[in-house]
Amino acid sequence: MFDVKPQDGHPERAAGGGRGPERCPQGFDYLIVGAGFAGSVLAERLAAGMNKRVLVVDRRPHIGGNAYDHYDDTGVLIHRYGPHIFHTNSQRIVDYLSRFTEWRAYEHRVLAEVDGQQVPIPINMTTLNRLYDLNLSTEEEAAAFLASRAEPVEDIKTSEDVVVNGIGRELYEKFFRGYTRKQWGLDPSQLDKMVTSRVPTRTNADDRYFGDSFQQMPKHGYTRMFERMLDHPNIKVMLNTDYREIREEVLYRHLVYCGPIDEYFDFRYGKLPYRSLRFQHESRDQAWFQDVGVVNYPSEDVPYTRISEYKHLTGQEHPKTSITYEFPSAEGDPYYPIPRPENAELYKRYQKLAEQTPGVTFLGRLGTYKYYNMDQVVGQALALYKRIEEGEQSFAAP
Ligand code: FAD
Ligand code: UDP
Repeated sequence: MFDVKPQDGHPERAAGGGRGPERCPQGFDYLIVGAGFAGSVLAERLAAGMNKRVLVVDRRPHIGGNAYDHYDDTGVLIHRYGPHIFHTNSQRIVDYLSRFTEWRAYEHRVLAEVDGQQVPIPINMTTLNRLYDLNLSTEEEAAAFLASRAEPVEDIKTSEDVVVNGIGRELYEKFFRGYTRKQWGLDPSQLDKMVTSRVPTRTNADDRYFGDSFQQMPKHGYTRMFERMLDHPNIKVMLNTDYREIREEVLYRHLVYCGPIDEYFDFRYGKLPYRSLRFQHESRDQAWFQDVGVVNYPSEDVPYTRISEYKHLTGQEHPKTSITYEFPSAEGDPYYPIPRPENAELYKRYQKLAEQTPGVTFLGRLGTYKYYNMDQVVGQALALYKRIEEGEQSFAAP
C-alpha cells in the first residue's frame, strides 16, 4: 500500500526528527493512529485543507472507530460497538460533518425498566406520575415533588452526591445506583459527578434523552460518512494494522496518536483504567422488539445495562429487527475512560510525558482520556487542525 522505507530504521530519525519544518520527501507528512472520529476528521482536514500526505492506520478491520456501523446477516444496519446517536449544540460541527453526509432527523428516547414497568429516563413529569401514581400537571408541581425528596449535599463531588442532592435517595436507587454499579464496576460514590450528571432531570414532560439543538443520524450510516471523509488522494488507510507493526517501516514527520495514551508509553506509570463492554448482537424474526431505541435496565438483578434496537435510530424498514445487549466488563477493548480523581491524576502524569515527547500529538477519547461524545471529539480534532494550520510548532495534548 505504500513503498517508503526508513532510512535508518527509526521513523522519527528517518523522517528528519519527525517534526522538521521541511516536508518529508517521499513519506507521509502525518501518520495518524486510529480511524475513528478523531483520526478521520484530522486526516481529512490535513489532506484537503493543507494538502498534507496522511497515512491512517487502525488495528481493527474497519474505519469509523467505535461509531462503525454495518449491515448484519439479517440485512439490518447495526452499530457494532453499541448505539451511537449524534447530538450537539454546535452549528460548526454539524456544518463540517454535513460535507460528508446527509442527515435523518432523530430524537432519541429511552425507557428505564423500574418496578416492573418501563418509564421515561431522564426522569420527567411523566416518569413521576407513572411511578407514584400521581397527577402532576405543571412544572411547579413536579419541581415541588422533587424538592420534597431531594436530600441536600453540601459539597457535591461524586455521582451519588449529585443525584441524591437533586432527586433524593429513593429515585437515585431506582434509576442510578444499580445501573452505575454495573456499568462502571464502581459505586456512584466512587465516580466523579460528571458521570451521572450526563443524565438530567426534567420537571416538564420532555422525554427526549438529549436536550441539544441538533439531534440527527447520518442518513446512510456512520461508515458511509467516514468513507467519504477519508476518500481523498492524499489519504492512505491501512486496516488490520497496529501502529507498533509499522512504526519502523514508514516515513513520516509527525505522529497523531488516537489510541490509549498509556499504551503508547508502554504503561510506564501503570495502566490507566478503562471500562469495557461485551456486545451481544441478536436478530429477531419480528418487526419490532421494543417501543424505543434504547431500554435501560438499572436493576442489578439483570446482568446487562441496556438493550438497543437500531431500526428506531436509523429509520430502516425491514420485516425483521436486530438488537444489542450491553454487558459491562473489566476486560476487553477500552471503551470508557473512568472519571475519578485518582485516574485524572495518573492521566496528568501521562499528559506531562506527552508534552515532553516531540513529534507526537495525542487526540480523541483514548488519546486524551476524556469521556467525550462524538461531537466533542470532532470539535477537538478541528481545534487541533486549527492550531496546526496556524503554524504552531509545538502541539500539546488538548
Ligand atoms: P475511537 O472511536 O475509539 O477510535 C480509536 C481507534 O484507534 C480505534 O478504531 C482503535 O482500533 C484504533 N487504535 C487504538 N490503538 C491503536 C494502535 N496501537 N494501532 C492502530 N490502531 C489503534 N458518542 C455520542 O456522541 N453519542 C452516542 O450515542 C454515543 N454512544 C456510545 C456508546 C458506546 C457503547 C460507546 C463505547 C461510546 C459512545 N459514544 C457516543 C462515544 C463515541 O464512541 C466516541 O466519542 C468516539 O467514537 C471517539 O472517537 P475516537 O476517534 O476518539 O476513538
Ligand atoms: N445512568 C444511570 N441510569 C440510567 C442512565 C444512565 O445510572 O438509566 C448513569 C450511568 O452511570 C451512566 C451515566 O449515567 O454510565 C451516563 O449515561 P449515558 O447514557 O450518557 O452513558 P453512555 O451512553 O455514555 O454509555
